[in-house]
Amino acid sequence: MKFSPPASLVKSVKEKQLNKLTFSDFKILSSKNNNDIITEISPDIAVCDDCLQDLRIHNHRIHYPFINCTNCGPRFSIVNKLPYDRINTTMHEFKMCSQCESEYFNVSDRRFHAQPVACNHCGPKYLYNNERDFIKIINDVTSKIDRGEVVAVKGLGGYNLICDAKNNSSVLRLRKIKGRDSKPFAVMFRDIETLKEYCVLNNAEKELAESWRRPIVLLDQKKELCYSVNNDLKSIGALLPYLPFHYLLFDRLSIPAIVYTSANISGEPIISDDTFAKGNLNNKVDAFISHNRKIQNPVDDSVVKIMDGKQQIIRRARGFVPNPIHTLKSVDGIFAAGAELKNSFCIGKNNNAILSQYIGDLKFFETFNFYQNTVHRFFDLFKFSPKVIACDMHPEYLSTEFAERFNVNSLNGSQIPLIKVQHHHAHIVSCMAEHKINEKVIGVSLDGTGYGTDGNIWGGEFLICDTKTFERFAHFDYIKMPGGDLAVGEPWRMALSYLKKYSLNGIENLECFRKIDDKSIEIVYKMLESDINSPLTSGAGRLFDAIACLLNLCSKQSFDAEGPMRLEAIIDKTEKSYYPFEIVNGIVRFDKMLNAILNDISKRSASIISAKFHNTIVNIINDVVNQIKKDTGINKIVLSGGVFQNRFLLEKSIQILAKNNFEIYTNHLTPPNDGGIALGQLVVASNYI
Ligand code: ZN
Ligand code: ZN
Ligand code: FE
Repeated sequence: MKFSPPASLVKSVKEKQLNKLTFSDFKILSSKNNNDIITEISPDIAVCDDCLQDLRIHNHRIHYPFINCTNCGPRFSIVNKLPYDRINTTMHEFKMCSQCESEYFNVSDRRFHAQPVACNHCGPKYLYNNERDFIKIINDVTSKIDRGEVVAVKGLGGYNLICDAKNNSSVLRLRKIKGRDSKPFAVMFRDIETLKEYCVLNNAEKELAESWRRPIVLLDQKKELCYSVNNDLKSIGALLPYLPFHYLLFDRLSIPAIVYTSANISGEPIISDDTFAKGNLNNKVDAFISHNRKIQNPVDDSVVKIMDGKQQIIRRARGFVPNPIHTLKSVDGIFAAGAELKNSFCIGKNNNAILSQYIGDLKFFETFNFYQNTVHRFFDLFKFSPKVIACDMHPEYLSTEFAERFNVNSLNGSQIPLIKVQHHHAHIVSCMAEHKINEKVIGVSLDGTGYGTDGNIWGGEFLICDTKTFERFAHFDYIKMPGGDLAVGEPWRMALSYLKKYSLNGIENLECFRKIDDKSIEIVYKMLESDINSPLTSGAGRLFDAIACLLNLCSKQSFDAEGPMRLEAIIDKTEKSYYPFEIVNGIVRFDKMLNAILNDISKRSASIISAKFHNTIVNIINDVVNQIKKDTGINKIVLSGGVFQNRFLLEKSIQILAKNNFEIYTNHLTPPNDGGIALGQLVVASNYI
């Protein structure tokens, strides 16, 4: 559709022959409030080129940082209830001036019925201390950032922290304010040319970075900004300006790029409340800039990467939410509570699955509050009342507890059916739902952790499943996790556990254990020996952790999946060989591989060993799925789970499986990590009602 607005989506085209009709005029009638029909709410849209032009020529909008039109501007972040009319958004507080009103009612104007239309006279304003003059504010903020200071600015879906991305000491200071040790920061570049100077960019990545969704795109680094931005990870989370404010900022800034990160304390939800922001940020930063438009729905920046030429969503938020995912079968009235880490929940309306924005790790008190509030907001917003609840099987997930509590307290004292869905089955079904698959598939779910039907922690799973049930065909060998969840953050525990399980010697020669004190090693060894607090896991994530540790890349991690990310970052892509492995009675054993890796450590580079390790996993996948195909004749393969965020692993798996003529499916609309779990839960539950 050549002439459709950029953010529109043509779902279907119907042709019908009509008798000649004549009309004398054209009207847009006010929306009717109809409970059964959902008016789709648009995600927030990056400022359009026409508005950027108007910013310089419209008398009443010169330098106006909230400029927008029917093709761009805030949507989801400002809507309070449906239908989407100005009165139901946080713009209702701002009465349109006569000029804005004439544009709003003029059918030939680009701002015809643009709900958030506003200008310098009538719209929201930025505030800095007692200053309201925007030019003074932006000049002041710019010079502060140029000087290396750290500022907090209220954006679209929450507050952000900003500083010069090339100034190492500024970035370190920002890390301190945020309480984030070394997880890479997102960087906003002045424009696409500047971005290309620092990042490797192909056509698909360029298109994504410039799209109206304007997500953070994960790219390979070409030139370093400064060490502390990504701590040697050699990749950059890059994004382009998406608010008029960003363009006005870069107009004045002399630097090429800024760190652009949400102003929350690590683990907590994005800060959107003005009073809370002021109390928590004002005294920590060099400038605190707010504005007087309320954020109704807090929403983070989305994170996306291009894999195998297609988009893979890592964090689904601004620009994507609340676009529904259309399902094959009705999912009406189902609420899916999601997982615990990287939580996102989902509600069903007819054949639409509406996923919430990225919520985060529910174990943080504030994040769990945000979760509960957002669930109720979605229920109100979409006029939804649950008839069925789906949740994870994990008895200790806070989302599961929430679902159970909701179930007990449910309407009129009568309980709503509660359906518990196995974590990795949900991962696979999330991808099946995206592709509208309704038959048996081979599901390969390589993941961190997820509760299994035997009470162990699963995560290296080969399933035969449809969207209702599954059968576990094979899995990675069980291994003890000394200290339970502690072992997730401390890969050295997993490395030790693997060595002990397969009776491998030589720990004294391994560099990675030198950083760990003898006493801790002894305690963990004893835990393993006497089976104290050491649950069993088949999680692929834990195997990647252990290898990252053995190669001395990460003994203790300072952010989620640091070990696997460092392991992936160093792969020598020219290395084609792999290590031996064994599959015995449906169990993938790693003793031979680990033995070979220990032998290689003193002789080969970590880059070669990492490549061989990844190649081994690819070959394991290939072997197992070929076995399943031989036994069952199934040719469709679904790859999902957090470990498939690993580009090398996913692309190489696709390559080898395609050569064997498999039909391969991966997630594109929802994350392969736990952010997509809720969609899987929703669709599984729809088969039980
Ligand atoms: Zn516009
Ligand atoms: Zn106005
Ligand atoms: Fe998972």
